[in-house]
Amino acid sequence: MKIASIGANTPLHLSYRRAVSMDMGSHDYRRFEAKDRIDALVNALNDFQPGYIHAYATIASLLASEQQEGRLRIKPSTVVTSAEVLTDTARELIRQAWHIEPFNSYSTTEGALAIECAHRTGMHLFEDLGIFEVVDDHDCPVPDGMPGYKILFTNLYQYVQPVIRYEMSDMMTVTDAPCPCGCSFRRIVFMEGRNDDIITMVDARGKIVSIPPYFFHGPMAKLSRVREYQIIQKKDGLHFRIVLKQGTEKKTVAESIKKKMRREFKSYKLVCPDIYVVFVHRIVRDSSMMGKVKLVKKEM
Ligand SMILES: [Zn+2]
Repeated sequence: MKIASIGANTPLHLSYRRAVSMDMGSHDYRRFEAKDRIDALVNALNDFQPGYIHAYATIASLLASEQQEGRLRIKPSTVVTSAEVLTDTARELIRQAWHIEPFNSYSTTEGALAIECAHRTGMHLFEDLGIFEVVDDHDCPVPDGMPGYKILFTNLYQYVQPVIRYEMSDMMTVTDAPCPCGCSFRRIVFMEGRNDDIITMVDARGKIVSIPPYFFHGPMAKLSRVREYQIIQKKDGLHFRIVLKQGTEKKTVAESIKKKMRREFKSYKLVCPDIYVVFVHRIVRDSSMMGKVKLVKKEM
């Protein structure tokens, strides 16, 4: 099997390989950089012809668009996304491009790992590789089924650098309810993002309210002509950086974004900030974050 790892490394632990039905033999493993230009990545992947792709969610989604537009010509049997939010739009694009259902996964450099099973009922935590404690902002345990503020992770397989109750800012809801696949590992059923990704808004009564990133993903998913987006909260309002599909009229999309967001803020009884829409050729990938893109971030 030819494995293309774009941005994130593909985990190769036995239990992980079993979860994604990757055979235990040797593989032709090649790593590509997420911050490379998309046309260079497309050419490299056309040459390599991977059967397995592990990529940041925004990269997998871009590659799916490239496949549908005819520039990318590969036939992967498995696509695993990680590190960023896999939106419903991205999932649908991947389905349409390669007629397969992507596996969403969660992985950190400290060794915490989780991935969806074939039932897509959430991401099973690899509890044979680490101890996951979902806690609130005072480090008190949060019961299964309730959203946590952060997790404390203990790595059970790295012996060179011990990682014990390492604090990570991922806000997740974990359940121990049985999964039809029979795997007894608990599942992440909801991932709200990182607690430092939360932006704040003001409601109609002047109270400050936290807004998780997924607040924006629903309305943005309805904009079929948007290829990529990034939303930045600045002092003067919300800045939408938009990459459009070819041949799309900018004015219509800008108006549509403003209209949709105003409606969304109103339905949650929030004061709508000023909205600025900027059209760009590409969303710049942050090299200090290994080329990951934060779809929603603040720069205050
Ligand atoms: Zn399962």
